[in-house]
Amino acid sequence: MISTWNKVRVGNRLYNLEIKNGYFSAITPYQHEQHLTGSPSVSTHDADGLLYIPAMKDMHCHLDKHFLNEPKWYSRQTIDTLPNQLRREKELLGQLTQSVEERARVMLDTMLQLGTTQIRTHVDVDQEVGVESLEAVLKVREEYRGIVDIEIVAFPQQGLIRSQALPLMREAMQMGADLVGAVDPGGLDEAIDPCLEEVFGLAAEYQAGVDIHLHDPGHLGVYTIERMTEFTAQAGLKDRVAVSHAWGLGHISDVELSRLADKLREQGVAVISSVPIDRPMPNLPLLRSLGVVTMIGTDNVLDAWSPYGNGDMLQRTSRLAERYHWVEDEQLLGAFEYAAVGAVEPKLGERADFMLVNNVINVEHALCKVPEREWVVSHGQIAGGTRAGIRHKRALSR
Ligand SMILES: [Zn+2]
Repeated sequence: MISTWNKVRVGNRLYNLEIKNGYFSAITPYQHEQHLTGSPSVSTHDADGLLYIPAMKDMHCHLDKHFLNEPKWYSRQTIDTLPNQLRREKELLGQLTQSVEERARVMLDTMLQLGTTQIRTHVDVDQEVGVESLEAVLKVREEYRGIVDIEIVAFPQQGLIRSQALPLMREAMQMGADLVGAVDPGGLDEAIDPCLEEVFGLAAEYQAGVDIHLHDPGHLGVYTIERMTEFTAQAGLKDRVAVSHAWGLGHISDVELSRLADKLREQGVAVISSVPIDRPMPNLPLLRSLGVVTMIGTDNVLDAWSPYGNGDMLQRTSRLAERYHWVEDEQLLGAFEYAAVGAVEPKLGERADFMLVNNVINVEHALCKVPEREWVVSHGQIAGGTRAGIRHKRALSR
């Protein structure tokens, strides 16, 4: 399948982009419209001088637990303790009108509309829902194959040890989850090593990755991460392990963080943050400068934990830049490295995942302004954006 986008603005210049089977096959300066003819699988689009920016990846979200498109407002209470919040979350989730399948579609459509074409979702696995939510998300993943790349973490939200979820987690891995999850091996499970033994045991058994939610503060968090790097080495899972949130890394000095960064880099353990604005977070720029893989995600999107969040990764990346007071052009462009699927400009042979935006001067400006997405192209095909038509807007009514 071949398509062309004529008159795409890249920086200050206009180009015609040709896409073959989802990858850029020609990037030529715009002189005139190019019309490819001769085959029904050829399509031509007029970009009308809109600015090219890369599509985004959301490395931490929960397709199964948001309240988007629910007909009523669900009131929340301030989170006091994690066990209390987990109980309240269950109460709220029990009231939702949409099935997990529907929720997953709504979230994916919302994300596509905003230019996210690659995600990692955690999916709850517990004694109450069993593996039903996972079954639903696996089904929806097939529906979106070729449009959104979806990695799935089997997530024992109620605590792997605390809720004795190991048999269910094994079932989840057999069903096709890509990564083994856990939450606060110290603070929630109160059994750091037993929890990590189960997590890494499962991951080794199923040749899967690991992604652990870690809210534990200070040295409890740091100790858990150190143990994770050791378990990673023992299990031979270099480059396949991530720690999400890692709030504890925001509580230690840069000297201590640098020391820990060596261990993270050696084992390729990634740090994924949702860029909180209400608490300390890991110093991502320092970690990145020391060779640690650092990524970001949206996490809460109108759910039981927070009424905020809209699933917009461009906005989240903008928040990252603002939080670190990045104002120089190089810093603003560098922000995309945390979240873009590809480079900030189209590259020959690379995947054609991008957005076209209006009313901004350049990519730096787009990061700061967070404009509407006029077109979203994923794997070379139109997948969203305000100009893409009704078909792609069904999720955005609420
Ligand atoms: Zn999460």
